[in-house]
Amino acid sequence: MAQTRVVIVGSGFGGLAAAKALRNAAASVVLIDRTNHHLFEPLLYQVATSVLAPGQIASPIRGILRRQKNTTVILGEVTGVDKEKKCVFFDDADRKNVPIPYDYLVLATGVTQSYFGHNEFAQYAPGLKTLVDAVAVRNKVLQAFEQAEAEEDPSRHRDLLTFILVGAGPTGVEMAAALAVLVRSTLKSEFRRIDPTTARILLVDMAPRVLPTFSEDLSTAAKERLQKLGVEVRLGHSVDLIDADGINVAGERIVSKTVIWTAGVAPSPAGKWLNADTDRAGRVRVQPDVSVPGHPEIFVVGDTASLDENGKPLPGVAQVAIQQGRYAGKLIHKRLAGGPTPKPFKYFDKGSMAVVGKGFAVLQTGKIHLSGFVAWLAWAAVHLEFLATSSLRVAVFVQWVWTYITGQRGSRLILNLHGSDKATRPAETPLGVAAASK
Ligand SMILES: Cc1cc2nc3c(=O)[nH]c(=O)nc-3n(C[C@H](O)[C@H](O)[C@H](O)COP(=O)(O)OP(=O)(O)OC[C@H]3O[C@@H](n4cnc5c(N)ncnc54)[C@H](O)[C@@H]3O)c2cc1C
Repeated sequence: MAQTRVVIVGSGFGGLAAAKALRNAAASVVLIDRTNHHLFEPLLYQVATSVLAPGQIASPIRGILRRQKNTTVILGEVTGVDKEKKCVFFDDADRKNVPIPYDYLVLATGVTQSYFGHNEFAQYAPGLKTLVDAVAVRNKVLQAFEQAEAEEDPSRHRDLLTFILVGAGPTGVEMAAALAVLVRSTLKSEFRRIDPTTARILLVDMAPRVLPTFSEDLSTAAKERLQKLGVEVRLGHSVDLIDADGINVAGERIVSKTVIWTAGVAPSPAGKWLNADTDRAGRVRVQPDVSVPGHPEIFVVGDTASLDENGKPLPGVAQVAIQQGRYAGKLIHKRLAGGPTPKPFKYFDKGSMAVVGKGFAVLQTGKIHLSGFVAWLAWAAVHLEFLATSSLRVAVFVQWVWTYITGQRGSRLILNLHGSDKATRPAETPLGVAAASK
């Protein structure tokens, strides 16, 4: 008899947890992802601000699962699902719509960037969702300083050294604070013609407070910390326009060559593939056992799933994805082994954290609200614990200690210099030899 096949799409937090939960199952597990790595998204902002190198927050999926003999890893982009024929379709390097049949299917395809209907913003304001995004943002930030150093006209320095983050959720806050630390410590003494510490960093959001999912006291602590680091926080107004030269917000034009989008996300097309009921955001509404209504063999987990608990939808965070992925994997394992049906999924909230620059974080778990150095130590310990491999844990720990002591960063390389197709302008004056604007 052919072995039961479990197909898992997505090797992020949810998909990887599901695969690991099936390691001892009598099944052939196929894990498909469009990248060859498992990415630790909470540390993307550290790649974007040069603290860590890309290879320190991601690990090849095949390496992570090398001992899991019942699991095959496929590099491919899933394009659709045929629920009746029980088949997933994917594109690989040179083929389209390759079918792969399943007995059980777990979809864990996460989210993508959302520009709230303004897709034209995307070309001017990159988001932060993948490693490629993080390297692109790093390039943009570092290139702005290089361009300012080479620029004769001091009036252009202000535009080049104005950095705008749109979205004051955890990613925007963490990124803004990390940029402030980058310019005021690491870059401070390395330029001769410009003063990096004069860089202007703005955090803009239409919400009335930063970190709106945290309690008000922690939002206030985070905002005060940002301001102490020199970040300008503009709240209560949405951005009306983003173009190549800056943004319009609350009737004001702010000129900037570097705008970064950290505002919104949209779920993967899993709901469309399944033609399933979705919530307003487009996330697949799942049953309490994270299966799709009418299809006990299909599970949707993590950011692309919608499940209410105590009348509220579960948040799009790593712990929800990990716990749902693990739950779906265990449920399939139990079914295959003829065990009892497990209880409905129940999320165990371990709390939320956000880091606001060197040595400062906010932490909220139950009634405990903490801000400052102790919260930062807890943040560092938790993030180390959840990295995918021991080698990443050691590498990141060593880098953090080194950066903490010396201010030096892990990777400040600009990697797209010659691939850039930026418009150029004629040189007006030769490069002066003396320091220009310091
Ligand atoms: C910058 C950033 C910071 C964050 N910080 C935190 C934090 O501090 N704490 C926290 O709890 N959460 C944080 N999150 C949220 C957290 O990362 C997500 O909730 C979590 O990753 C969701 O897991 P998932 O498995 O649903 O999706 P993901 O981890 O995003 O995985 C989705 C996977 O599916 C793959 N995929 C997608 N579409 C396809 C396709 N068509 N074919 C093949 N493969 C596909 C992707 O390549 C990816 O590997 C952060 C997210 C971001 C972007």
